[in-house]
Amino acid sequence: MTRIVLLGGGVGGTMVSNQLARQLKEEILRGEVEVTVINESDVHVYQPLFLYMAFDQAVPADAHRAEKSVLNRHVKLVIGNADRVDRENNMVRMSDGQTIPYDYLVIATGSRPDMGSVPGLIEGGHTFYTEDSALKLRAALQSFQGGRLVVTVGVPHKCPVAPLEFTLMVDDWLTAQGLGKTSQVVYTYPIGRLHILEPIADWANEIFPARGIETHTFFNAETVDPEKKTLTSMEGETLSYDLLVAIPPHAGQDVIKRSGLGDAGQWIPTDRHSLQMEGADNIYVLGDATNVPISKAGSTAHFQADVVSSNLANRIRGGQGSHRYNGKVFCFIETGRDQATYVKFDYEHPPMPQAPSEMIHLYKLAFNKMYWLSAAGVL
Ligand SMILES: Cc1cc2nc3c(=O)[nH]c(=O)nc-3n(C[C@H](O)[C@H](O)[C@H](O)COP(=O)(O)OP(=O)(O)OC[C@H]3O[C@@H](n4cnc5c(N)ncnc54)[C@H](O)[C@@H]3O)c2cc1C
Repeated sequence: MTRIVLLGGGVGGTMVSNQLARQLKEEILRGEVEVTVINESDVHVYQPLFLYMAFDQAVPADAHRAEKSVLNRHVKLVIGNADRVDRENNMVRMSDGQTIPYDYLVIATGSRPDMGSVPGLIEGGHTFYTEDSALKLRAALQSFQGGRLVVTVGVPHKCPVAPLEFTLMVDDWLTAQGLGKTSQVVYTYPIGRLHILEPIADWANEIFPARGIETHTFFNAETVDPEKKTLTSMEGETLSYDLLVAIPPHAGQDVIKRSGLGDAGQWIPTDRHSLQMEGADNIYVLGDATNVPISKAGSTAHFQADVVSSNLANRIRGGQGSHRYNGKVFCFIETGRDQATYVKFDYEHPPMPQAPSEMIHLYKLAFNKMYWLSAAGVL
């Protein structure tokens, strides 16, 4: 029996397991292959809706499905916290003492926003990168009376475009609330342009000034003073705010640290084409958990899932597992309340934002509903 274990049942882990269950259905039914997902929660959460929750355009129930219901019925599900990966013995050790042996391990543990990385940020700032925080931001926006709304971005973070989307959406939202004239939206970014991907930075560089959004580059948030309502950068600049919204730097999950698998940021060194963990023939990594030089996004995990599942199924059937990931990413970008654009890029081709339209916005809203088909491996 060949045991394939997926550590993490979010976008990447769920998609790989569902695709494997289809591709290896006969082998699973004959008892030759077993596919097991380990996830700490029994609820699958569609994170892109957090952005809409902040604006009261979605509620948590819209983003939740039972993990069991999203998985193919031939996939086993273990709910619990993985304490560490024991590579010597090819097993995952769970916090409750259970051990889950594997022949192949797929790591898809995602990433976590680290609000604690900037002193004062937890007390003085908001974010929309978790469900709880998006709901708190919703309340803060509902009681906002106007003033300086500062959006500060740290890197690395998942979803390369969500900070731009929030900035443009909140700008439109303030106008719709009648607060446009008494408010100023401010956007800060750590390097010398408005986005890490140059074509997207050039695009934002046209749109932000035209919308009256104040920008500060080379701004790495260092401290927040919640009493004085100020944000100070490592470069020595201090901005006052009435409402502070942060996309803080992210790190890999603690289980990666405990397992000794990660680099300084707890990202797992991963071959950018084969998606195998460096130096490990039987471990694949996908989604946010890798150190692959490409944006961390659900679409990245999706395209990588196609490669990982194809290679695993192929190897189990006696092939070489030679499918390669080409760095493909696709992201919609909301540019306001009712317009959006999109970018598509890979290792060789940079993103080229298209002209925004209402049609693309409607596509994004439609995809938010179709995600569940995509997770199930149907799309
Ligand atoms: C506000 C917001 C907006 C976004 N918008 C978009 C968008 O428009 N388009 C897009 O492509 N992407 C978007 N993303 C990013 C996208 O959600 C992530 O990149 C994607 O979920 C990454 O998939 P993953 O499988 O790597 O990790 P995840 O989907 O985060 O899954 C990781 C799983 O591992 C589990 N896990 C972690 N540690 C353990 C452990 N020790 N034991 C057991 N289980 C564990 C977690 O519980 C989780 O279920 C957005 C994210 C946010 C927050």
